[in-house]
Amino acid sequence: MPQGISVFDEQLRLRVWNQGFIEALDLPPEAIMEGIHLSAVISIRVARGDYGCGDADELVCSITAQVGKFEASREEETHPNGRSYQIQKEPLFIGQDLAGFITTYTDTSEQRASAEREQLAQKVYTHTPAGIIFTDEVHRILSINPATTQMTGYETFELVGQTVFGLIELGEKQQQGPFEAELALRASWQGELDITKKNGDRFPAGTRVNRVDDPQSGLPAHYVWILADITERKQSEERMRHIAQHDALTGLPNRMALLMRLAQLLPEARRHGWKIAMMFLDLDRFKIINDTLGHQIGDELLREVACRLSAVVRETDFVSRLGGDEFIIILPGISSAADAAAVASKAIAALSTAIEANGHELHTSPSIGISLFPDDGPDGDTVLKNADTAMYHAKAAGRNNFQFFAAEMNQITSERLSIEHKLRHAITRNELALCFQPQFLAGDGSPTGVEALLRWHHPTDGMIPPDRFIPVAEETGMIVEIGDWVLATACREMKRWIDAGLKPVRIAVNVSARQLRRRDFCETVANVLTISGLPAELLELEITESSVMENPQEAVLILQRLGSMGVTLAIDDFGTGYSSLAYLKLFPIDHLKIDRSFVADIEFDLNDRAIAFGTIALAHTLGLKVIAEGVETEDQLELLRTNGCDEVQGYLMSKPLSGTAAFTFLHAKQCAQQAPGSPAE
Ligand code: C2E
Ligand code: CA
Ligand code: CA
Repeated sequence: MPQGISVFDEQLRLRVWNQGFIEALDLPPEAIMEGIHLSAVISIRVARGDYGCGDADELVCSITAQVGKFEASREEETHPNGRSYQIQKEPLFIGQDLAGFITTYTDTSEQRASAEREQLAQKVYTHTPAGIIFTDEVHRILSINPATTQMTGYETFELVGQTVFGLIELGEKQQQGPFEAELALRASWQGELDITKKNGDRFPAGTRVNRVDDPQSGLPAHYVWILADITERKQSEERMRHIAQHDALTGLPNRMALLMRLAQLLPEARRHGWKIAMMFLDLDRFKIINDTLGHQIGDELLREVACRLSAVVRETDFVSRLGGDEFIIILPGISSAADAAAVASKAIAALSTAIEANGHELHTSPSIGISLFPDDGPDGDTVLKNADTAMYHAKAAGRNNFQFFAAEMNQITSERLSIEHKLRHAITRNELALCFQPQFLAGDGSPTGVEALLRWHHPTDGMIPPDRFIPVAEETGMIVEIGDWVLATACREMKRWIDAGLKPVRIAVNVSARQLRRRDFCETVANVLTISGLPAELLELEITESSVMENPQEAVLILQRLGSMGVTLAIDDFGTGYSSLAYLKLFPIDHLKIDRSFVADIEFDLNDRAIAFGTIALAHTLGLKVIAEGVETEDQLELLRTNGCDEVQGYLMSKPLSGTAAFTFLHAKQCAQQAPGSPAE
C-alpha cells in the first residue's frame, strides 16, 4: 500500500507496521521493533522537536494519552519533512473485544499543491487585466474571464458556445482556415489581432493562443486565447512615429518621412513608367530675416510658408521640410516637366504676397530647383541631389525663380569642386602670384599707381584666370586667406620698389565682400601696413559696389575706420550694380572706377557714353576722382580725357605686368617725365 500503516494493541504496543509508516513519521528504522510502546515512538518525535519545546517527559505523557485513545479520528498534519499527511485512526476489534487501533498515513502533499495551484490559477483568471478565453478544439468558447467581459462588453452567456472568430478580426493577411490549421500545428501563436466589441467599436489586441492537448490522444483538445488591449501602446507608438517623421515647427513630414515616401513611390513609378518631379525649394534671404528679426519671427515665417506651399499642391503631392529654410516637394505621377513648372510657378506666386509675422510685414521668395525621375537620375538620391544643384542655379540666376536640372549643371559643379580642391593647396605650394597693371593721369599720362591682380599658375592646368577661381574662393570662404596673402604681398612689393628708388605711387588691392565682412578686417590691414612699412595713404582698397550695398550700415562703419587710418578707397566696377551715387555719398570714398563694359562701348553706344560722362560729372560734384578701366584705344582715351576723367587704366597704356616688369616700366616712365623735352613714350 502506498500509505503508511501501524497497528498498536490494546496495551499500546506496536504490532504491525510497514515501510510507509517509518517514512511518514521519519523514524529511525532500527528503533522500531515489534512490541515497542507507543510512548517510545512519541518520545523519539518529542526529542526531535516535532511537538515544539517543553518538558520532554510531560510532553510524552500528554501526547501518548492523546494519541492512545481508542476512538476514530481524522486529521491533517504537516510533518518535519515538509510533506502533509492525512492521518486516519480506527479502533480495532476482534469479535466484540477491543484489540487496539489501526492508523493510516496518506501523503496529501501533491493534492494540496495542485489545489493551491488551481486556486491561484482561478485568481489569475478572475483578476488579471488580460482577457482569457477558453475554447474547445474548434475554437468554440467554453468560458471567458471577467476581463474579457470588460474588454468586449459581452457577458459570459453571450459568448459561450460561439466561435472565437466572431469576436476576432483576422485582418487582410490571414484567413480563418489556414490560421486555424496553423494554431493546431503550433504549441502557441502570438500576434496582433483586432477585436470587435459588443458596441461595434474595435481595438487592437496583443494575442496569444496556447494549444492544450488531450493527454490520452495527444490531439488538440482546447485553446486558451489570451488578449491584451494594446490601444494605448499603439497610440503612443503612433505618436512616436509621427514625432519621428514630422518637423516639430511646421508639422510637415521631415527628411526621414521623405525618404520613406520615396522608397514607396519609386518602385511604383518604375513599374508603371511614371515620372516623379522633385522640387528643392530654398527661401531667399531667410537667414537675414532670422538674424535681424529673431528666431521667433523666422519660425512664424516658416510656418506660414509651409501652409502656403501645402495649399498649392494636390492631395497626392508631398511637401516636406528638410530643416532650416529648405523644403522638398514631391509630385508623383506627373505627365511632363510642364506640370512641375506649373506647380513651381504657383509656389512662387503663393509666396509673393507679404507674410505677417508678429506685426512685421515680411517679404520672401523661393529659389526652386526641379529634377525629374527617371529622366535626371535612376534613383532617389541622385534625383534629389540634382534638384539641389538646380536650386543653386536658381539662386545664381537671381533668386525668386525655378530652374530645371540639366546635365551641364553637374559638369560646372564638378569643375568648381575640382578648382576648390586644388585651390586649397595653392597658397602653400606657392602657385599664386601677383601682377600689376599701372594707372595713369588722363591728362599728362604720368603714372599714379598700380592695381594688383591675382594670378594662379597651376602646375598641370597652367594659368587659371581669376574669373574662374575667385568666385569659388568667395563661395568657400578661402578668399579670406587668399585676400590676406594678396594684401600682404602687394604692400611688401610696393615698399620694395620705393626702397629701390621708385617715387611713391598708389598700390590698389581688390577686396571681396567676404573679406570686408570680417570683424578683424581693419586690424588685418593695419597689421599689413605695420609689417610692410608702407605708408597708409599709398594703399587703395578696391571694393565692388554690390559688396558695400549688401549691408550699407555696417559698410559705412568699416570704410570710415579704414579711411581714418589713411587708406584710400575705390568703388570698383561702378555702374554694374544698383547703388545710387547719392548713397555712395555716405561712404568715405576717393575713387570711382567706371566699369570697362561702359568704356568698351563709349565710342559707339550713345547711352553708355551718356552714363559714363554723367557719372564723371556727378562724381566730381561729390568730390570723387574717376578712373576709367579697360581703355584699349586712343579714341576711348581721348573721349575720356576731354570729358574730365581723372585717371585711366587699360591695355592701351599697359597690360598687367610681373613685379619686376612693373617696377622697370614705372621707373622708366618717372625718369622720362622728369627729363623735360624727352618724348612721352
Ligand atoms: P577687376 O578688378 O575689374 O580687374 C580688372 C580686370 O580687367 C583685370 O582682369 C584686368 O586684367 C582687366 N583689364 C585691364 N585692362 C584691360 C583692357 O584694356 N581690356 C580688357 N579686356 N581687360 C582689361 P583680371 O586680372 O583677369 O581680373 C579679373 C577680376 O578678378 C578682377 O576684375 C577682380 O574682380 C578679380 N580679381 C583679380 N585679382 C583679385 C584679387 O587679388 N582679389 C580679389 N578679390 N579679386 C581679384
Ligand atoms: Ca579691380
Ligand atoms: Ca573693375
